[in-house]
Amino acid sequence: SLVALDDSVPEPNRTQDRSAPVAEVEPGAPFGNTPDTDPSLPANRLWGREILTRVPGSRLGEDLVAEHTLTDVDALESVIASAVAEGEAWGHRPAAERAEILERAALRLEQRRADLLEVMASEAGKTLDQGDPEVSEAIDFARYYAHLARGLDSVDGATFVPSRLTVVTPPWNFPVAIPAGSTLAALAAGSAVVIKPAPQAARCGSVMVEALWEAGVPREVLRLVHVEESDLGQRLVSDPRVDRLILTGAYETAELFRSFRPDLPLLAETSGKNAIVVTPSADFDLAAKDIAASGFGHAGQKCSASSLVILVGSVATSKRFREQLVDAVTSLTVGWPSDPETQMGPLIEPASGKLLRGLTTLDAGESWLVEPRQLDEVGQLWSPGIRTGVKRGSTTHLTEYFGPVMGIMTAETLEEALSIQNQVDYGLTAGLHALDPEEIAVWLDGVQAGNLYVNRGTTGAIVRRQPFGGWKKSAIGAGTKAGGPHYLFGLGEWTPARSSA
Ligand code: GLU
Repeated sequence: SLVALDDSVPEPNRTQDRSAPVAEVEPGAPFGNTPDTDPSLPANRLWGREILTRVPGSRLGEDLVAEHTLTDVDALESVIASAVAEGEAWGHRPAAERAEILERAALRLEQRRADLLEVMASEAGKTLDQGDPEVSEAIDFARYYAHLARGLDSVDGATFVPSRLTVVTPPWNFPVAIPAGSTLAALAAGSAVVIKPAPQAARCGSVMVEALWEAGVPREVLRLVHVEESDLGQRLVSDPRVDRLILTGAYETAELFRSFRPDLPLLAETSGKNAIVVTPSADFDLAAKDIAASGFGHAGQKCSASSLVILVGSVATSKRFREQLVDAVTSLTVGWPSDPETQMGPLIEPASGKLLRGLTTLDAGESWLVEPRQLDEVGQLWSPGIRTGVKRGSTTHLTEYFGPVMGIMTAETLEEALSIQNQVDYGLTAGLHALDPEEIAVWLDGVQAGNLYVNRGTTGAIVRRQPFGGWKKSAIGAGTKAGGPHYLFGLGEWTPARSSA
């Protein structure tokens, strides 16, 4: 995130007013990030209100799309066989042709922004301000991977041979950006794709895939399947004709999938237990705001979310900082996404297991700085919680709750804070709030995580600016970051170019 940006690149598709037609971008135009919707424009607020009238209140609707639901082994067999055959032809098309189709996909995704926001709110409980950057990210993936695909055909002395068939199994928490990113990368590289959206967000996946088909991605090359039975799902991810699997989900799921077929190259982005460190040199106003957003955006249901805050030195006893943090967190309006006032939406399912424990049960030495409250009957709506007095090595220190609960720890020095931060098994995102350049340098040098953010929240990585991916137990596989310059390389092999004399 510290690399200087090329700001000469114009932002494409800049329509100020979301209800106006989307401007087309020239094929092969330089890459620039797509702007999110600006809610300060009255026209955009009206546009948003209209979307919310179509979102059901006080429940999340799971809506399997019957047409693409696989029910038996024969149906699965025919999907895989045809995708392998079609993948071969797709991979042989010039990369520039695939890139142009992806650029049309970017346009189509922009045109369908409202539909995508509606399904994300209805199925996944995403408020508009959480869903909107996801659509922008999906568009960015389409345009950026198109740009990278053009480069694949022009490497001297080497030929890129793509996978023929990539299976994509995305999560429900980013039900548009992640399936889109994985799918678009594989298509850009030249592979056919079978995508199996998360059952909790099946329609989000369907609308995203529809947009790609409408843009000209052949239906035979991009196959959408919904699988309800786990043995069919297992068959899909262990079929010997599959060349790559792109998985985003829990570490345990990735391990399980790997056990099905240990030789299958896997690109897996897995769990996180991310912390923000605050030193006495920090801008407290900014830190409190970023901690609240990183901990409680989408009710904390992000791998990138911060669920630990480590206060260094005098910050640990600063009454002012605590008050600011408590104010920032308790002023969040919790509700269903259909209500325009909602700032923090529901959990995808009623809290259970370790999350329920995290929301209700304190460990030795802990107390509530902000006690979470269950706001509905079933336990899907919770107000945010902050545990304080969290001990090193405790459950709150080391376990991912994946919900709206955060732990506060303290450290005498920045070095101690780093050692607390690095003690977790994961290494996805990490944050530092400090204005002292020396502290920043020490922290950047010592912290073990893939995405490091200084004086910024830890969620919402931007394509190309902040390629996304972790290490330790936050990733398995190729080690190339999504939205970064090498991601497509993980989706095929380089061979020496053939030459004849
Ligand atoms: N890329 C997302 C972000 O930066 C996180 C993805 C995830 O939670 O899996 O917030």
